[in-house]
Order: sequence, then structure tokens, then C-alpha cells
Amino acid sequence: MSKFAVFGHPVSHSLSPRIHAAFGRQLGIALQYEAIDATPEGFFEALEAFAASGGAGANVTLPLKESAFALSATTTQRARRAGAVNTLARLEGQWLGDNTDGAGLVRDLTGRHQLDLRGRRTLLIGAGGAARGIAPSLLDAGIASLFLVNRTPQRADALADALADPQRVHARHLGDLRELGEFDLVVHATSAGRGGGMPQLPRSLLGMRSVAVDLSYGEAAIPFLAWARAHGAHRVIDGLGMLVEQAAESFALWHGVRPHTDEIYAELHARHAALVTAD
Ligand code: NDP
Repeated sequence: MSKFAVFGHPVSHSLSPRIHAAFGRQLGIALQYEAIDATPEGFFEALEAFAASGGAGANVTLPLKESAFALSATTTQRARRAGAVNTLARLEGQWLGDNTDGAGLVRDLTGRHQLDLRGRRTLLIGAGGAARGIAPSLLDAGIASLFLVNRTPQRADALADALADPQRVHARHLGDLRELGEFDLVVHATSAGRGGGMPQLPRSLLGMRSVAVDLSYGEAAIPFLAWARAHGAHRVIDGLGMLVEQAAESFALWHGVRPHTDEIYAELHARHAALVTAD
């Protein structure tokens, strides 16, 4: 039986083992998938031990995505554009690094939620591993512009530089958001919701056409999505669909076949969706 795992810190809350077990059952592929807690300092050693025990592939979550990029012997183009890896595949004794977060988000928004991303004036809040993963895919999906803000402004500047699209990408300070007016799409990609908080944002960001997306799901998505709903967002969407779609992309890389996602999404949505999520 082939062995897979998700590495993160913390990771015990991860839904990935359940999602991959469901995909395996659906397609009749026998696999083992576990959650392994690893600190940034212990990650390399833990991953080597996993490979030595027959590990064939791994997902990588917060805060290890940039480390995973650094230790990949080869990387896909989308991982290089993100500078972050969320999926590792063992190939000839080395790790291939990929990033399926952006494809997962775009597939969820355009497929499941039927959003046309083209031409949207977009704000991305956060510049960590997840933001790095999704920004190139949002640009590829045809958004009109991408404004970037982050608690540590230098990271937003660095992400804007890396995206190398000065016509469409603009780094700004969180404190200057009031001057930027309304956005068609506001994507919250910080981890602040895990502590029950969110960055301070002006209500002027949202209008009647605005769609608010939080990459988090469950309780962590509540602060931002409740704020967005209270301030007039047209639709609010949490990160559960993205989670399932990025998992399906990883599964396809490892097993060569993409599973159907609707059933597991419906099951997880019934139990873990943010209380305020609605289409
Ligand atoms: P990282 O640790 O790489 O980055 C964290 C980001 O959050 C940084 O931009 C950081 O800012 C910001 N941040 C943290 N705390 C606060 C705060 N109190 N106020 C303002 N900003 C804050 O995490 P990831 O990018 O990997 O993950 C971000 C979120 O996205 C997580 O909640 C994660 O669960 C979710 N996610 C969901 C996925 C899905 O499939 N649905 C996939 C990937 C991530 P600074 O740079 O200043 O530290």
C-alpha cells in the first residue's frame, strides 16, 4: 500500500487524511495517509524519515511551504512562481515540489461557485505561503488588477516583485486601504482567524457586487466572513472548497487520475462550513 502524509505545525486538525481516504475509496486505490506534526526546525529530518519508510508523496501546510520549496530537488513552474510548495512527490529518490493551492482556489470559485473572475478588481490580504500560491493563478484567471496588503508590508512588496506584472499588481499598506475604494473580489489569506481575529479593514472595500473569500474554513473563517456579510458583501465563500480541490490536484499528481470532489465537499460542508457561509 502506498504511503502519503500531510506535514504541518499544528496539523492534528487537518482534514486532508479524510479527503484522501475518500478519494482512494472512490477510485479503488489502496493508500495510507497520515498527519505528521513537524516544526520548521524538524521538518527536513521528519520528511527524510518518512521517505525512508516508503513515503511516496506528501502535502505540506502552514508554516512549512517555503521550507518545502527550498528542499525540493525539482519544482513545477507553478511552484516556482509561488515560491512555495504544498505537494511533494518522491521521484527517483528525490522530492518534486508542486503547488496546487492556486489551481484549487480557481477551480472552486469558477466551477463550484460559478464565478467569472475575468476583469475583477481584486484585493489580496496576506502574503504568506497561501497568498503566494494563489496570486499567480488569480492573475492567470484574468482578474483586472491585484492589490496586495500584509501586516508586514515588506512581504507584500516582495510578492508584488515576484509576480512581475506591474501593470496589474500593486502592493499597498494596510493603513492606506481607505483610499482604494471598492473591490469586486476580496480574498482574505491571513492566518489571523485561527486566533479568532482579523486585520482591521475599512468597510469601504465592499460594495453590492463584492465577493468575499476566506481561505480558512470552519471557525477560523468566521471573523472575516461575518465582517464581510455585515458590511454588504454580495457573496461570502470559505476555503473548504479550495481545500478539497487542491487535494484533488495533489491526488492527480500522485495517482494519475483526478477524483470527483462533490461528494466529499458536501460531507465536509455539512460539518465544517463557517456558520456564515452562504451563496
Ligand atoms: P503563513 O504562516 O505562511 O502566512 C500567514 C499570513 O497571515 C501572513 O501574511 C501573516 O502576516 C498573516 N497574519 C498572521 N497573523 C496575523 C494577524 N494577527 N493579523 C494580520 N495578519 C496576520 O500561512 P499560510 O499563508 O499558509 O495560510 C494562511 C491561511 O490560509 C491559513 O488560515 C490557512 O489555514 C489558510 N489556507 C487554506 C487553504 C485551503 O486549501 N483552503 C490552503 C492554504 C492555506 P505577516 O507576514 O505579517 O506575518
